[in-house]
Amino acid sequence: MRPTGIVADKAKAILTIAWDDGEVSQLPFKVLSDMCPCATCAAERNNPDPLKIIRPRSYELEAINSVGNYAINIMWKGGCRFGIYSWEYLREISGLINRSSGTSAD
Ligand SMILES: [Zn+2]
Repeated sequence: MRPTGIVADKAKAILTIAWDDGEVSQLPFKVLSDMCPCATCAAERNNPDPLKIIRPRSYELEAINSVGNYAINIMWKGGCRFGIYSWEYLREISGLINRSSGTSAD
């Protein structure tokens, strides 16, 4: 399973990924940033410290870099720059979004 096309729409803040099995994932920047898979962000998500001031997340895309042939690195402007989003992880996020939004109207 690999993407055949990745398009970042900064105006709509959506990353669209077309997969080689015909699926198309539409991933809002907000969700991608919130689910940054790097160790630091994952630790913050799993062990929220109530005494710590929560850093505001950045949802503005700065850059997308390919990582080998298995992932992309997404850098958020003023936010985390270390997230390596594997194809599997991106599909997982896509599945979560589809489940939470229920059946699509269109
Ligand atoms: Zn991160």
